Amino acid sequence: MEKGKIDEILFSEQQISLRVRELAREIERDYEGGSPLLVGILKGAFVFMADLVRALEIEVKVDFLAIASYGMSTKTSGIVRILKDIDTDITGLHVIVVEDIIDTGLTLNYVLANLKARNPASLEVCALLNKREANKIDIPVKYEGFPIPDVFVVGYGLDFAEEFRNLPYIASIQPHR
Ligand code: 5GP
Repeated sequence: MEKGKIDEILFSEQQISLRVRELAREIERDYEGGSPLLVGILKGAFVFMADLVRALEIEVKVDFLAIASYGMSTKTSGIVRILKDIDTDITGLHVIVVEDIIDTGLTLNYVLANLKARNPASLEVCALLNKREANKIDIPVKYEGFPIPDVFVVGYGLDFAEEFRNLPYIASIQPHR
């Protein structure tokens, strides 16, 4: 398979770090005195999640949900497979789903419906990136890092065929060059 080529850096390490700290301040304000459970969606959200929890100065708990999305393609299938469920019983808990990127919204729509059925006290979304124009389903995103155009991006946890997750910045990619 041909490897993708980095096109343009959309958000630098510094820009991301600043925005993550701003999101942390928003969350702190809303959950003062509470102890939310942050549920990171693997694999893509692992870097964002790690930075976000360290920026938060309130008590939080963390858990992870691993799902399969695109595989080797850059197109969404709409079919979501849970590879690893969360370990926590979220009944009565304040849950924040931490997602790397929203494209069509199909993935998160499935995840939210699945978690909602377990009766959390509240359920909110924190997404680093949102391709608003590409949204097919209206997802209520309480905490949004950056809206982005409908381009394929990698870095800061996001991959193309499992590559580029370790880039400290977020860049667009030309997959078939
Ligand atoms: P959706 O179901 O909203 O269409 O897609 C969400 C999932 O697709 C994300 O969690 C992510 O795994 C993947 N995804 C969507 N857009 C991109 C992108 O531009 N780059 C990468 N690397 N993954 C993406």
